[in-house]
Amino acid sequence: MQTHSHFAIAIDGPAASGKSTIAKCLARELGLVMVNSGAMYRAVTWKILQMGIDPQDATAIVAALPLLQLSCGVSGNYSTVSLDGKVLDEELRETIVNQSVSIIAAIPAVRNMLVQLQRDYLNHTSLVMEGRDIGSIVFPDTPYKIYVDASEEVRAARRSAEGVTDSVAARDKADSNRNNSPLIVAEGAVVLDNSDHTVASAVAAALDILRSQGLAMHD
Ligand code: C5P
Repeated sequence: MQTHSHFAIAIDGPAASGKSTIAKCLARELGLVMVNSGAMYRAVTWKILQMGIDPQDATAIVAALPLLQLSCGVSGNYSTVSLDGKVLDEELRETIVNQSVSIIAAIPAVRNMLVQLQRDYLNHTSLVMEGRDIGSIVFPDTPYKIYVDASEEVRAARRSAEGVTDSVAARDKADSNRNNSPLIVAEGAVVLDNSDHTVASAVAAALDILRSQGLAMHD
């Protein structure tokens, strides 16, 4: 799958485990692009809801997919997701998106479309990608894989401190139990328990893991 000189670092884990923060810091530290794959599932969900389609109606969602003007890019060191030419941001974190995203992300045709877009990034750049299936499905051949975990209490507290209404436990349950690309610890991934870390110590731990997986770094 990785046929060129670019490489991918896969960061997976449950909601609010701190994987985005770690992925962002790693990207900055290593001079890579950070790709937020969850934003792509959120963008599709947002648009489906805007179109008035019931998130439970998989047939209607699959029929709508070819109509979506979805494009993925990079701004600075971060991935962006645009719909109809507009970069989405705040709308991706709306409560209604939180409530429906796991239902829509379980649809195989949605995943196939977005996994392709995620793999396309590697044609352009080396990257740190965070999500649920990055080490298992999107880039199974990469040697650089971390699974970031944290206790349910820590994750719920993190989300409420951000002022986000999000049923983290319900999303995790749906993401872990779906048939297609469930959240798992990918083969070769090292688990980083982020329950008691500061950001700095979590990033240091992640860098140690990547070093142990063979990533060359200029210390
Ligand atoms: O990462 P974030 O919490 O923003 O992801 C939102 C949702 O998108 C997840 O709860 C999951 O349902 C879906 N997702 C996924 N696979 C990914 C990334 C996100 O199914 N690689």
